[in-house]
Amino acid sequence: MKSIAASVQARAVSPERQAIIDLSAISKNITALRDIAAPAKLMAVVKADAYGHGVVPVARTAVAAGAQWLGTAHVSEALTLREAGLHVPVLAWLHTPSTDFFAAVAQGIDLGCSGWELEHIAAAARAQERPARIHLKIDTGLGRNGSTMADWDALVAEAIAYQDEGLLRVVGVFSHFAVADEPHRPETDEQLQLFREAVAIAEDAGADLEVRHIANTPATLSRPDSHFDMVRVGLGIYGLSPFADQTSAQLGLIPAMTLQTRVALCKDVPAGQGVSYGLGYVTAGATTLGLIPLGYADGIPRIATGGPVHVNGRSYPVVGRIAMDQMVIDLGPDGRSHFASAEVPGSALGATAVLFGDGADGGPVVEQWAAAAGTLNYEVVTRISPRVPRTYVGGPAGTNGPGGRPANEPGGQL
Ligand SMILES: *Cc1c(COP(=O)(O)O)cnc(C)c1O
Repeated sequence: MKSIAASVQARAVSPERQAIIDLSAISKNITALRDIAAPAKLMAVVKADAYGHGVVPVARTAVAAGAQWLGTAHVSEALTLREAGLHVPVLAWLHTPSTDFFAAVAQGIDLGCSGWELEHIAAAARAQERPARIHLKIDTGLGRNGSTMADWDALVAEAIAYQDEGLLRVVGVFSHFAVADEPHRPETDEQLQLFREAVAIAEDAGADLEVRHIANTPATLSRPDSHFDMVRVGLGIYGLSPFADQTSAQLGLIPAMTLQTRVALCKDVPAGQGVSYGLGYVTAGATTLGLIPLGYADGIPRIATGGPVHVNGRSYPVVGRIAMDQMVIDLGPDGRSHFASAEVPGSALGATAVLFGDGADGGPVVEQWAAAAGTLNYEVVTRISPRVPRTYVGGPAGTNGPGGRPANEPGGQL
């Protein structure tokens, strides 16, 4: 057991579990998507903590790679970008009567407006004698945010009246697609037609538009006729595919997040051993179980039994229920012989366990977890919880992250 003693540390410094975010992948994805969108501009959508990747490092990387705009759902998310010193144009589009429109106007944040927000925005502008910048949103078929076509003329007229008063400028008209991830569906054409009509109405009424925009990631990739002046790209900048039948690699994108931990326990059990709550999995024969210290508190969906965990060059499906903090893989009857661990010869204890990453070298990808959980890649990455530290690699200027520290040292996490 000499090697155990040799490897026992007085003080552990490497993260026990981490979402490693490759900023160079994000940078390359932005470049690829900019090429696809050009001459339209690219808005990097960094809502929801940049889909779980960490908003400030991602936003900085996106801007450095040429994204001309940033987009968030909430004004509070947009304010975070300003606090981080990012002064590119930012649009926020999902508001409630509790939204801090005053701060948004003060910080020069562009505001999406579906109707009721208009007077709140105008009041905020009046109070600080600073004109607001708004993008009127038309619902072309998604049935979520946005003005109906029936209310559009009135909304445009009201906005132009405020514009004439000097309280705001209508700088954009935008909409959002419902089925762009299914390129064969006809509704996208119908939405585009309505969008063109809504834009024409706004321009005829006196709007001098800087940006007309409707394309999300799937439309950016599959519908050049939807690019207009700008595309709003979220999923693609994180290197993930919005299409069920195309991988990241096929789209020329690199997944930026790798979720990994280390095997927390490795033990031999006899046939008939039940595994995890409910004992829904029972070992068929003598085998070796590996304990993976990630669970639903870390954002791994509880329903995702069967999702892959890659250890020592092989993927093992999770067996039994995923618990709050942990889950189990079955390394098989000859499991021990696969491992020449530094910690314990013939044991997977301490081995790196990857749940998903960039898929290179046959490693697992986030889409396998999405399939196991009956959801989308969007949801899996976005829900990785704050209990999992984000570690940044591939940052600018020869450092391993915006903090300039190697990723595996304390303080390397932003
Ligand atoms: C989230 C969002 C996007 C980005 O969508 P992706 O499919 O991730 O590219 C674009 N526009 C709006 C209005 C959104 O809410």
